Amino acid sequence: MFDWPGGSWEETLRLVVTVLAVYLAVIWVALIFWVYRDIRQRTRDPIMQIVAVVLALAFFLPGYWVYLILRPRQTLTELYERTLEEEAILQDLEDQKACPTCRLRVRDDYLVCPSCLTQLKDPCPGCGRPLDYAWSACPWCAREKPSASVPGLAPPANGDVPAEAPGLVRRQR
Ligand SMILES: [Zn+2]
Ligand SMILES: [Zn+2]
Repeated sequence: MFDWPGGSWEETLRLVVTVLAVYLAVIWVALIFWVYRDIRQRTRDPIMQIVAVVLALAFFLPGYWVYLILRPRQTLTELYERTLEEEAILQDLEDQKACPTCRLRVRDDYLVCPSCLTQLKDPCPGCGRPLDYAWSACPWCAREKPSASVPGLAPPANGDVPAEAPGLVRRQR
């Protein structure tokens, strides 16, 4: 037999067991902190938070595995981002223009409704791109929109009151 360095077998064994125990304890505490932080990112429900921490506290690794299976799939940030995305998609759908006559969805650059032939926009006399009725100049080639391009929708020539309005008022009295 040779001499075991550093003393007896029993003392060496005790040292190894102590080191292992400290190591496991550190991992256990770190695991509890990890679970605590993770569950706080996933739910605001205090009962679920306590249950998650108790799982890791009482059962160590098996509790942690159970937690991994049962925890909410998405973090609160992910949920929030998904809500934002869904709202953006809904907004896009709402922003899509519809033909005022037949309600067919039309694109922003259509001149006429392809279904009912309602005129949706005027082509720019300079570059031919579709101009919104609200615009007074073409944003692409800077040419001013001819004011009389929309028959019937042109403003009255003199003054802000249409010519037949006083007559209408008089008839009502
Ligand atoms: Zn239409
Ligand atoms: Zn133009």
